[in-house]
Amino acid sequence: MHFESEPGLEEFRQEVRDFVRDNLPEDMKARQVYSGSMFSNHDDDQAWSKIVEPKGWGTYTWPVELGGCGWSAMKQFAFEDELYKAYAPPLSFNTLHMIGPVLYKFGSPELQERFLPMIRKNEIRWCQGFSEPGSGSDLASLRTRADLVDGKYVVNGQKIWTSGAYDANWCFCLVKTDTTCKPQKGMSFLLIDMTSPGITVRTIPQINNEKHLCEVFFDNVEVPVANLIGEAGLGWTYAKKLLEGERTTSSYIFWNKREMRRVIALANAEALNGNPVAKDPAFRMKLARIQAELTALEWSVLRVLANETFPQGTPAAASVLKVRGSDLQQWVTEAQVDLIGDKALRSYPIDSLGSDAGTLWPEHVVNRTNMSMIARAATIYGGSKQVQRNILAATAFGL
Ligand SMILES: Cc1cc2nc3c(=O)[nH]c(=O)nc-3n(C[C@H](O)[C@H](O)[C@H](O)COP(=O)(O)OP(=O)(O)OC[C@H]3O[C@@H](n4cnc5c(N)ncnc54)[C@H](O)[C@@H]3O)c2cc1C
Repeated sequence: MHFESEPGLEEFRQEVRDFVRDNLPEDMKARQVYSGSMFSNHDDDQAWSKIVEPKGWGTYTWPVELGGCGWSAMKQFAFEDELYKAYAPPLSFNTLHMIGPVLYKFGSPELQERFLPMIRKNEIRWCQGFSEPGSGSDLASLRTRADLVDGKYVVNGQKIWTSGAYDANWCFCLVKTDTTCKPQKGMSFLLIDMTSPGITVRTIPQINNEKHLCEVFFDNVEVPVANLIGEAGLGWTYAKKLLEGERTTSSYIFWNKREMRRVIALANAEALNGNPVAKDPAFRMKLARIQAELTALEWSVLRVLANETFPQGTPAAASVLKVRGSDLQQWVTEAQVDLIGDKALRSYPIDSLGSDAGTLWPEHVVNRTNMSMIARAATIYGGSKQVQRNILAATAFGL
């Protein structure tokens, strides 16, 4: 199978490369290079969306009639590959893959009219309020309640690990609206204004020096009934549809490829016994193993996109890619840390640009340890590795 055979794909890649070269601000790029993150800070995220907007690329995954690009899966793949390669801030994951599709598939006409134009312009900072203490893998057991009182929902409870809640304007949230039926049936999907009285957000200290993960407390928070997505009690169905529709992003393939290129650059920059580490046979063996896994993952992603294996949208495809993609994040970042040796022991603020002491702390060592630490979480968030394996056992092998 020849995946690059789609007519015009190479010219399209060149168009993306040229655009990024001419329009990506240097400071924005530098922040992505140093952090190495697969996300960007909210300011860069919003500023970069504005830069790509005139090209119509902001919501490229959406249907054409809603402002999307109508690209083939291979064209989307090429687009994302080029953006990552160039260290452009990734376009908002929530907008493209999470709340955007939920709203245009299941939201009321009023909610669509109110939110879609702002989402298209990436003007809202969203956070995802699903997990709770004791309810992560087993989301159906969540306990945050939304009771109907005088024509409004009144929300009480706590969310945890809510990424970016500290400066989010809105939260898309799973809540219990009925505790008398089967847990999955009593769940609803609510949009909650983060400036509502009764909301408290606390950041959770992170080992990688980031301040990204939060606890969110709801104390008698009033939410208009009009902010309910679809029907009450169907929140679980909407949340599952959202996750199932997401076939290949869980592989983090573009990020893994880019960070593998960084492994090779570090191997050429760091020395062992007077030679670049890249010449060391033991290191080359290790590199070859990781590269083989990475290449296999890329082909798996391409096969899913070409619909050769796994019917489109089955949980099995997403689970396979998530398991291997998250493993690779850990292998690739661990290889980076190994390469910088004892220089990995120094702690940097997550947003540090460059370094401060010339050859002892060259720029390429900054943030590698932070990145390796946050990669530990890759096998947990978005569905833990063990749970993905359970899904695979059930859906692919009928166990
Ligand atoms: C960096 C990061 C960002 C996150 N961002 C968000 C966010 O923005 N919004 C949000 O809602 N949540 C977020 N989460 C939460 C994430 O979705 C949960 O951490 C995840 O679903 C696991 O749930 P848990 O932490 O409750 O662990 P648990 O579900 O308690 O799992 C603990 C351990 O038990 C294993 N386990 C659990 N059930 C089974 C089973 N049935 N079979 C075998 N093993 C099992 C798990 O694999 C894990 O190893 C984030 C988490 C992290 C680490």
